[in-house]
Amino acid sequence: MPRPRLLLLLPSTTYRAAAFVAAARRLGADLTVASDHVSVFADAQPDNFLALDFAQAERAAEQAAAFHANYPVTGIFAGDDDTVVVAAHIARALGLPYTTVDAALAARDKHRQRVLLRAAGVPVPDFALVALDDDLEARAREAPYPCVLKPLRLAASRGVIRANGPAEFVAAARRIGRILQMPDVPREGADALLVEAFVPGPEVALEGLLDGGRLQVLALFDKPDPLDGPFFEETIYVTPSRLSEEAQQAIADCSQAAARALGLTSGPVHGELRFNERGPWLIELAARPIGGRCGAVLRFGVDAEPLSLEALHLHQALGMPTAGVTREPRAAAVMMIPVPRGGTLRELRGIEAARAVAHVEDVVITAHRGQELVPLPEGASYPGFIFARAADPETAVRAVRAAHAHLAFDLT
Ligand code: ADP
Repeated sequence: MPRPRLLLLLPSTTYRAAAFVAAARRLGADLTVASDHVSVFADAQPDNFLALDFAQAERAAEQAAAFHANYPVTGIFAGDDDTVVVAAHIARALGLPYTTVDAALAARDKHRQRVLLRAAGVPVPDFALVALDDDLEARAREAPYPCVLKPLRLAASRGVIRANGPAEFVAAARRIGRILQMPDVPREGADALLVEAFVPGPEVALEGLLDGGRLQVLALFDKPDPLDGPFFEETIYVTPSRLSEEAQQAIADCSQAAARALGLTSGPVHGELRFNERGPWLIELAARPIGGRCGAVLRFGVDAEPLSLEALHLHQALGMPTAGVTREPRAAAVMMIPVPRGGTLRELRGIEAARAVAHVEDVVITAHRGQELVPLPEGASYPGFIFARAADPETAVRAVRAAHAHLAFDLT
């Protein structure tokens, strides 16, 4: 039997490509990494690298089909909302099982997602679409307060702003309008925003895999820092969740219903949900895994060589079973290191001291010297990540907080 080949669509170099390489080696699979720029390695290793036009999904599908004729692809995996849409086009062209184009588009567009979820009876906040050239003062008078304004297609809480009254509504809408003009923002969907009722209560993140339409929960994370706005910076994720079994089941059921409503049947899902006295609320369900680096917080199995999240994705993409795989018994936490303020990074001190904190497994700094750090709501990336493992979630959270206290940003 020929070796299986996985086509990997990674949005950026900060993704854990090495974890996929290791997993592929362990499985005896070949890996082709697709990117939207020509790799310097492409000529030397034409089977390992493939340049695809990520901005034009139909074109990317043709390019992938030409590649497939020489190097048959067995499975496909994509890392973020945009590459999932490209991968869906490729999978359709190649006849591979994958998320449909419709489902990938529905998951990516926050308004379309709300419409489908509401129609299916999934608990979502009241929402309305507001065009940026609408009479914002008039729209502000109709809005429920507190409310949340957000772009339709951005991620990582970029441009998501809470407003407590009409004046804040108008200011937030104008600010989002400016963010949507930024050069790295796709034009599509950039002429409107979504307004929705603010859902109070603790927030969780659900990491799951869909197979044949059924949701397998890989991990449920608590977010111990309250997310009350005006901006919604993610900081700490910790698993296992301290919510009751009953609440966790309701959250899983709600996520399953959301996946069904969006037409998602296979592959990774990452959900953000809130939970309050009325039960779970679906804030967002994405057809992709947890953001690139954070995946390192999850490990599966109990043997000496645990499986990474990337290994699970590889298994699934190649049609190998993942049912029954469970997360390791220890608690694990990751902190997405917040941008302390805007500025150019001159130096980041205290990394070694942070790494030396008990239970801290790693401190990964992705920002480089000279990089412009932009806080929310305009920014969208974290300068780094802190990982900890411990017997219980509280200890893991204390460890990442203690490590973070050692970090000192020198910004100009
Ligand atoms: P993104 O895809 O950019 O992360 P989300 O819609 O998931 O955008 O919003 C980011 C964060 O903002 C959520 O994780 C949540 O903390 C907060 N948020 C968004 N919408 C609401 C809402 N309706 N009520 C309460 N919090 C919200």
